[in-house]
Amino acid sequence: MEKIEKLVIIGSGPAGLTAAIYSARGNLNPVMVAGRVAGGQLTLTTDVDDFPGFPEGIQGPDLMVNMRKQAEKFLTRFIDEDVVSVDFKQKPFIIQTESQTLKAQSVIIATGASAKWLNLESEQKFIGRGVSACAVCDGFFFKDKTILVIGGGDTAMRETQHLAKFGKKVILMHRRSEFRAQAALVNLVKSKTNVEFLMNFNLEEVLGEQKVTGVKIKNVETGEIKQLEMDGVFIAIGHKPNTDFLKGQIDLDEQGYIKVLDEIKSSVEGIFVAGDVADHRYRQAVTAAGAGCKAALDAESFLEQLHVVEVTT
Ligand SMILES: Cc1cc2nc3c(=O)[nH]c(=O)nc-3n(C[C@H](O)[C@H](O)[C@H](O)COP(=O)(O)OP(=O)(O)OC[C@H]3O[C@@H](n4cnc5c(N)ncnc54)[C@H](O)[C@@H]3O)c2cc1C
Repeated sequence: MEKIEKLVIIGSGPAGLTAAIYSARGNLNPVMVAGRVAGGQLTLTTDVDDFPGFPEGIQGPDLMVNMRKQAEKFLTRFIDEDVVSVDFKQKPFIIQTESQTLKAQSVIIATGASAKWLNLESEQKFIGRGVSACAVCDGFFFKDKTILVIGGGDTAMRETQHLAKFGKKVILMHRRSEFRAQAALVNLVKSKTNVEFLMNFNLEEVLGEQKVTGVKIKNVETGEIKQLEMDGVFIAIGHKPNTDFLKGQIDLDEQGYIKVLDEIKSSVEGIFVAGDVADHRYRQAVTAAGAGCKAALDAESFLEQLHVVEVTT
């Protein structure tokens, strides 16, 4: 007889792993397709000081290893691959990973989001040779160097804050005259003595031969072109939700984030959503984990209504 899973969870960041812990304890025997970046975005960072329960803080990768151990303890089955396609138009739902075809009564999508690029030719040419989109991954290589960060939102503030630990000078450049980031984050960055601000400028070109040596920038109001010596350029303009494999299967907004009803439900009954893949506002580990909990509880109620799991009230 063909195997039909009660629940498949896609993505193993805080949202997916919390969903796994709750649904495994709810007797749903979840299968988790963990993705190639197992553990999600927090595996890219060091200190996490704002996740409750760790008064001394915790390293991002350690937090994710702990969450995975907790999900494994309750017998979540892990597949460390990406999902390449899905068919949510038939039931049971079909989830195609790199090597397996899964069938499921319900699905939780928790595939998070990835950094965006400006897509200038010179930017792409120097990725890994002075251009980066991950301060935590690459900041260390720019110890005592001059670094340009581009962006004006929360991502730019977080990246600048991190880079200020390494750089001799960090210049935060934004194409507008005001930042759209949370005031608390802006104030934190403003308090750094080695951070300078450059407003109303766009990046025109990244300059260099083998590696980045400078940038050409343009004032959006006056048209003035400037050339600055620079060792590193960090693009911090936000994220793209990891939803390419979902196109045509569930409703997405114009940026590709999953559209949700009641925070957690997708446009297809039985397909639930958690974390950054539907959240361009909060983008925090704890909000992702909270959504994972809600998605697991909603999936359990859905399966109870289908009489797939016993009601245990
Ligand atoms: C550098 C950095 C530092 C941060 N610091 C903090 C912090 O200090 N505190 C805080 O609260 N938040 C922090 N954040 C934000 C936090 O990491 C995210 O809000 C949180 O990880 C979102 O969780 P998520 O589970 O929704 O998605 P993610 O963590 O993005 O996980 C998504 C998962 O989905 C998987 N996936 C993607 N596509 C597929 C696919 N096709 N098939 C299968 N799996 C797939 C990925 O491999 C990954 O496992 C930080 C983020 C970054 C980048």
